Amino acid sequence: MAENRMEKIVALCKRRGFIFQSSEIYGGLNGAWDYGPLGAELKRNLKDAWWKAMTQWRDDILGLDGSILMNRAVWKASGHEATFSDPMIDCKTCQGRFRADQVASTPCPQKPSKMVTACGGELTEARQFNLMFKTYVGPVEDDRNLTYLRPETAQAMFVQFKNVLEVSRKKLPFGIAQIGKAFRNEINPRNFTFRSREFEQMEVEFFVRPSEGKAWLEKWLTDRIAWYESIGLPRKKIQVYDVPAKDRAFYSQGTYDLLYEFPFGAEELEGIAYRTDYDLKQHQAASGKPLEYFDEETREKFIPHVVEPSAGVDRTVLALICEAYTEEGVTDEKGNQETRVVLRFHPRIAPVKAGIFPLLKNKPDLVEKARALAADLRKHFPVFYDEAGAIGRRYRRQDEVGTPFGITVDFETLEGAKEGPLAGRKDTVTLRHRDSMQQERLAISDLLPRLTAALG
Ligand code: ATP
Repeated sequence: MAENRMEKIVALCKRRGFIFQSSEIYGGLNGAWDYGPLGAELKRNLKDAWWKAMTQWRDDILGLDGSILMNRAVWKASGHEATFSDPMIDCKTCQGRFRADQVASTPCPQKPSKMVTACGGELTEARQFNLMFKTYVGPVEDDRNLTYLRPETAQAMFVQFKNVLEVSRKKLPFGIAQIGKAFRNEINPRNFTFRSREFEQMEVEFFVRPSEGKAWLEKWLTDRIAWYESIGLPRKKIQVYDVPAKDRAFYSQGTYDLLYEFPFGAEELEGIAYRTDYDLKQHQAASGKPLEYFDEETREKFIPHVVEPSAGVDRTVLALICEAYTEEGVTDEKGNQETRVVLRFHPRIAPVKAGIFPLLKNKPDLVEKARALAADLRKHFPVFYDEAGAIGRRYRRQDEVGTPFGITVDFETLEGAKEGPLAGRKDTVTLRHRDSMQQERLAISDLLPRLTAALG
């Protein structure tokens, strides 16, 4: 069932232009994906929602847009160069390489019905494999010019801590937020976009007084769950995993993972980690530049502690699509039973907000009215204009990509509504609601306020 559901979701993503395989015409590139027209819009809406909630709607977090390439010294100081690795096991029989903690659940590439531990291949001991992509800065490919594509966005926020503090003149507690690409040479990219080699993160580094770190960790946990609910992931599908001390980084005094119940199992969307003063301390020691904070109230100088909510853009996009995907039995206009596929996106997140449909395409007045309406609404949000085919089919095509509203321009628009409270009135349209499929008559002049209120 779950596998089948995932297959249908992947097929829909391709068919309707949410997500394509990267470099598809050349056979693809494992772990890399392209977002098509609707996917790009969906992803943008998600990032906008996060950015607004994190920066514009509060005055204690500031934005940063750091570079992907950084001085290699950053990755030495952060510990990534020495330790950002997964233990790997090689199979001498099939030459495959697998994550040591996943061998028991990874199918053998040669005998896919058996797991790697049971296929009889000769396995090596686990060895560390660094996940950072190497690259060279400048024309000479030698060790002095080596650096990495960033495996997380966080480090720019630590190394710019002092600059942001000085320009903003913020007092603790305050945070820095960033959205951007990160790269990890994952051994087994899998579950569609869930584990990719190129992906985007949305991270906050929230700087606090050491005595307040634990309380802020709890507050961030509550805030982040509420945010996922606000974009349409229900509380009951989000699990909180309190990571035990033995599985946390040695400097962490508490980490919560937020897991979403994907069709392939409950998996991590976000980690919220209380990282103490580890990162700033490391960079202060390695760079020789002070990264302390002077507390004017207590006249003390200290390195702030950090709570880091770190979320994945691609994983959240996938969760939103999985959550939205619904199949339901409906009866069409001719009385036939059929399956309606609907993406029940929260209207804020939906890539297209309204479909505009003139009832007949060979009626110039009607088409002109519908086109004018589309042009008007387009100034406010993405709309899709469609004049081809049966109206039922046009609705279904928009249901399948999650468009919350359908607007039909018909004879009554030109000649006056036949019945209801707007009887006799011209310039009205039918507004159809995606989830309930209910329709109502509305004056064109009331459309924009109605839709903008619903889109939040
Ligand atoms: P995992 O255990 O699943 O590998 P992680 O604990 O290493 O993840 P973090 O380093 O905490 O992940 O990164 C923060 C967030 O970045 C994750 O919660 C996830 O949403 C996202 N992320 C990390 N790795 C990937 C990846 N390979 N593909 C897509 N998103 C990722």
